[in-house]
Amino acid sequence: MRIAADPYTELRNRLFEAELLFSTGVDGLYGRSDTYQGIADAVDHLMHRWGHDVGATVVHLPPLIARSTFDSTDYIRSFPDLVGSVHVFNGGDRDHVELVRRVSAGGDWPALLEPGEIVLSPAACYSLYPMCAGRLPAGGRYFEVSGYCFRHEPSTDPTRMQAFKMHEIVYVGEPDTAQRHRDDSLARGLSILTDIGLDVTATPANDPFFGRLGAALAAGQLDEGLKFEGVTAICSDDRPTAVMSANCHRDHFGAPFGIETATGAVAHSACVGFGVDRITIALLVRHGLDPSTWPGPVRARLFS
Ligand code: AMP
Ligand code: ZN
Repeated sequence: MRIAADPYTELRNRLFEAELLFSTGVDGLYGRSDTYQGIADAVDHLMHRWGHDVGATVVHLPPLIARSTFDSTDYIRSFPDLVGSVHVFNGGDRDHVELVRRVSAGGDWPALLEPGEIVLSPAACYSLYPMCAGRLPAGGRYFEVSGYCFRHEPSTDPTRMQAFKMHEIVYVGEPDTAQRHRDDSLARGLSILTDIGLDVTATPANDPFFGRLGAALAAGQLDEGLKFEGVTAICSDDRPTAVMSANCHRDHFGAPFGIETATGAVAHSACVGFGVDRITIALLVRHGLDPSTWPGPVRARLFS
């Protein structure tokens, strides 16, 4: 008797069978087909048009972030369970012999590596803040940033990946403009996603802060209304999936990275982040696995 898979595994199997995603043997780490990537690129392009409209400086980012930058974001304090760190071999000949011996014997060879100067990037906008250090022009600046992110949250839910693409529109500058950017971006993001046929609603949200101390941080973030998500049903109507988030950081990045407004005050920042992979999969579920059969207006918005 075939035991029915849960809806998450079921969807992942459908995406594998259609060869839209390819298994690497690790939950949350997938190859993408040309069709899948074509949709993801079209989603990226929607955000790119937005960035262009607001005069954003575009920065394409690698999936890695300087360890010094990472340390200044305080990420490790809040999300130690999601972190990935790059370790490298700095040894000499003798260490190399031992390394190879351990590899052959199935021993603990990673123990011979040391932390490198880089960490896997957990969010696209983090790399940006050190680039903004110093005095900003009057009115602040908009940036469009995109790149692969890593979060250690292996899952059979195909929309919960370990390596996924994030695309953000970020504002750095005056506190009131940052707040407005967050609010306006939420509305604009929802409307872009609605226009491509996704049924998305806004909801107050909190980050998954770690542990007992984290519960208080999460409650504070919710109370102060700092984070909103756009959610849509992908596998479950009861537990919709966040496909975008709009975040007000206040001076969380401005202070540690020494970013100043034109008048010398600590800059505030806000970002709207889109989960490009989640939006791609939501589209495939909503409109069918073959994009050539999608409704004309949706195709026109995405592909022309
Ligand atoms: P966050 O910084 O957690 O608000 O993430 C921004 C957006 O990235 C979310 O709204 C999701 O769409 C996407 N995202 C976050 N975590 C994952 C993941 N594990 N897999 C795929 N997309 C993700
Ligand atoms: Zn961000």
